[in-house]
Parts: sequence; structure tokens; C-alpha cells
Amino acid sequence: MTETMQALVKGGPGQAGTSLREVPLPVPARGQVRLRVRGTGICGTDLHIMDDEYPSIPPVVMGHEVTGIVDAVGADVSTDAIGRRVSLETYYVTCGSCDYCRGGSPNLCATRRSIGSHVDGGFAEHVVVPLHNAHDVDPSVGEAAGALYEPLACVAHALCDPAVASPGDTALVVGPGAMGLLAAQVLAAQGARVTVVGTARDALRLAAADALGLTALESGDLTAPGAGFDVVADCSGAAAGIDTALTAVRKGGHYVQIGLCGKPVPIAIDVVTLHELTVTSGFASTPRSWRRAERLVGARLVRLDPLLSDVLPLSAWEKAVTRTRAGDGVKFVLEPGA
Ligand SMILES: [Zn+2]
Ligand SMILES: [Zn+2]
Repeated sequence: MTETMQALVKGGPGQAGTSLREVPLPVPARGQVRLRVRGTGICGTDLHIMDDEYPSIPPVVMGHEVTGIVDAVGADVSTDAIGRRVSLETYYVTCGSCDYCRGGSPNLCATRRSIGSHVDGGFAEHVVVPLHNAHDVDPSVGEAAGALYEPLACVAHALCDPAVASPGDTALVVGPGAMGLLAAQVLAAQGARVTVVGTARDALRLAAADALGLTALESGDLTAPGAGFDVVADCSGAAAGIDTALTAVRKGGHYVQIGLCGKPVPIAIDVVTLHELTVTSGFASTPRSWRRAERLVGARLVRLDPLLSDVLPLSAWEKAVTRTRAGDGVKFVLEPGA
């Protein structure tokens, strides 16, 4: 008899949209480890996947911001790995031979398959990944907060390779969700004076920004310093936020698009030309950005725990999704064992 476990599955064609199901317990293959999941974060991308606004191959167990304890290993993996407390790089499969893979950008590989969208992810009691996807969690990080390494690695990729801010720069982050509060901390670590801006519905998130020592404002109260901010990062993925962000950059300044909209939005793009803006972005993470994330946390330059709003059992996933959509906190994590 196959052992089963509970998992949150996005259904395939003709199936229910997203639901809790019993699925087979995964067994680690050669080179793989299995985790007992201790926490998986709900991310904007998960909402886009549920809403069919982000590519996925259903039926698939969702969840890509995963932390847990290694509880089984496949052939060729030392049993020393068992008991390691880790967070997970999301690429389950990349080709390993295209220019992107060989150049350190597996995030851009055409055959990339990621957990939570293409292959089974972490909204489950267990998940299986290649051993090299597992990164040790710093002992200072709380159990469920380890799930925040993954979004931090994404933000570090967008902001650190190369560094977008220099010491003394003014920086603005639009959108005080988890990505925004991680981006703000990374920009502060680069020496920038950081302002975080949100809307009236972001009161809890702006309070979290304030508690992190960042300047937190509602967009109506935002006044750009002098001619504008040296660096502006959009983490809202919303047309109004992008509009605020683009108009807040100084001439010749740097604009970074981190938020995903999930659909076409109207943007007054002429400002990029008229103000000679440098526009960069970052999609997902790279092995290098994971090292940066580990060092930023280890050096206490980025704090993950203050971003954790609540840890809910997997069975309460709908409540956690509703609270995420409502902006009723920063980061909600589902814990299968809870
Ligand atoms: Zn995510
Ligand atoms: Zn490749």
C-alpha cells in the first residue's frame, strides 16, 4: 500500500481549482533529499498560479517558499544530510548545458522546471528536491521564517548583481509586502536611505516597515527628495504602484521592476526615455543570489522573522490566502504539521 500525505494541489483540466488532497508520499530518487516541511510561505506568485495568471503544469502540489528538515535521502546522498534544517532553491530541473545554465543563470533556462508550479512543491507534509537545492538555515532564524530565504534570494538577485544602490543614495520601495520589505532591507544594507511606500490598505505592512527602522509612508504623503530618488524599486506589481515608482525616480536614476502584474497594465513608458532611466529587473533567483541571501541573514543585515505575520495549518489555507489577498499582514506561512 502506498503511503499518502496531505497536500494543497492546483487541479488539472476538468478538476477542482485548488484543493487539499491525499497524494502519494514522495520518495527521494538518486541525488535527492526529502524534507519534512516545517513551513511554506504564501507568495503573490501562488495567487497568480491559482488565478491562472502564471504558468503551471497542473495537477501540481503548490508552494515554493519552503523550509524544513531533511528526513530521507536518495541513493548517492550521504545520510549525514538527515536532520539538516534547510530552505530550498526552487529549480527542480534545468538543462545544465544552455548558455544561461552555464553562465550562472539557471532561472532563465528554457527547460527550467520549478517546485510549486511545474513539479510538486511545499504545501504538503513532504517535498523532494535535488540535494544541491537545500541551503542551511541560519540558527538565528525562527523555524517557519526560514521560508523567507527564497523571496530574499529573488530580491538579492534583482538588487545585488550588480548592486543598484551606493552608500548615501536615496531609495524608494513601492509596495510593502514581503518582497518590498526584503528589498528595503537589502537596499539599506547597500548604504541607501530607504523609504517604503504603500496604500491605505497597507497599514499593517507599513507598521512592519517602521518596526524594521525604515521610513514608511502612505503614497499620498510621499514627497520625493529634491529631484527624486536615486533608486526606486517597484514591488507592488500594480499599475498605480508602478506609476508612483516611475515618477519618483530622479533623472538618470535607476528603476528596478520586481513586482509581477500577472497581466498587461498601462504604463507611461516615455519617462524612461525622457528621464534617461536605467531599468533593470530580476526574475527568481540564482545560485549566487542564494549565497548572498545566506550572508545577508548571517550578518544580520536582513531580518526574516519580523516579516512573518502568522503560521497557519495547511487545512486553513483558504484563510491564509484570503488574508494574503487582503494585505492583512506581510507573510503567511502554512505549516503542514500544525
Ligand atoms: Zn515566491
Ligand atoms: Zn539550461
